[in-house]
Amino acid sequence: MGKMVKQKNGGFKIYILTAVLFACSMLSACGVQGKYEHKQYVYLDAFDTISYVDVYLADAEKSSEYEEEIHEELLRYHRMFDAYNSYEGVNNVYTVNSQAGKAPVKVDEELFELVKFSLDNMEKTKYRTNIVLGSVTRIWKNFMNTAAAKQQEAEKNGEEEPEITLPSQEELEREVEHTDWKKVTLDEEKRTIFLEDPDMILDVGAVAKGYTAEKLAGYIRRLGIESASINMGGNIKFVGERKAGDGRSYWVGSIQDPQTMQASNMAIRLEDGGTIVTSGNYERYVMVDGVRYCHLIDPDTLQPAQKMASVSIVAEDSGLADYLSTALFTVDVETGKEILSHYDGVEACWVTAGYETYATDGFEKLLVK
Ligand code: ADP
Ligand code: MG
Repeated sequence: MGKMVKQKNGGFKIYILTAVLFACSMLSACGVQGKYEHKQYVYLDAFDTISYVDVYLADAEKSSEYEEEIHEELLRYHRMFDAYNSYEGVNNVYTVNSQAGKAPVKVDEELFELVKFSLDNMEKTKYRTNIVLGSVTRIWKNFMNTAAAKQQEAEKNGEEEPEITLPSQEELEREVEHTDWKKVTLDEEKRTIFLEDPDMILDVGAVAKGYTAEKLAGYIRRLGIESASINMGGNIKFVGERKAGDGRSYWVGSIQDPQTMQASNMAIRLEDGGTIVTSGNYERYVMVDGVRYCHLIDPDTLQPAQKMASVSIVAEDSGLADYLSTALFTVDVETGKEILSHYDGVEACWVTAGYETYATDGFEKLLVK
């Protein structure tokens, strides 16, 4: 593992180059693509992010059917992992939270699996991603929303920087009492989740999008779609061989610089089933007195993590990649490498808060020169 040559712009985040997709759709419009037609589905109503599903279809007649079916499936996961709303006929994260300290809740297979997976991986990841950190993450979410609203209001009125109050350490320390993952009881037979502590809050935000991208990939395969890419807010997953008709059968994830938010000139090569997931500090954050407060919380300090600008994980499983991207975001590169030593076939690329770039050897090998 080595330090990578620092790019002109510092660091980067992987995402699919819209320009590449645009080029493909132009080709398809001209009918040069041979037998596969490119369609892009854009979903705006799930996971508080934009989800793109790009498919290359041998039979484009079914496209609008696929678009709807994938949407329904995406929404099914969205509802399942929603911590704020309840839905008729679904026991979701909100239901589990509202029954905290009261009763076990019978949930769908996928929610049970996600929670079990997350708890099972805690020790290996030094307890960095804690899905019952909700009482603490909620304080920071409220802070971010309030601060952002105040700042926008002040800007609109041409006023000076508004006074913003940070969450008090006392409050954070009071709330961290309700984040003990040993108080989550899972009953595999009954498929129930019980939060023993009435003030505990389940928050699966650190892993839900990657998990869903992984599941959607399986669903897309079952629909009979041979070639697709999924991008859910930085969680990217590829299905099949790339069938864009331009002679390149592998997928390329292009790379975003966390400092400038521009695409850098770096990209990695991925094959069928490949995934890359990035956690970054540049999409959701507020600046207060020159300090950046992002949405990823260091469970030791209870403060927004300050060490990284972005961490990208390549793995086979997108849920694992998402889980690890959050974990590694809260620690230094050395500790991140220790965590990775427990996993096979997982690669990482770090851009530190000072915009220095590091990567595992395996990650460097994937770079498209
Ligand atoms: P993104 O949502 O940008 O893809 P992540 O996958 O890293 O980023 O997940 C961030 C979300 O995870 C936060 O919005 C919050 O709900 C939750 N979270 C933040 N810090 C932690 C943590 N240390 N452990 C578990 N969940 C966390
Ligand atoms: Mg994550």
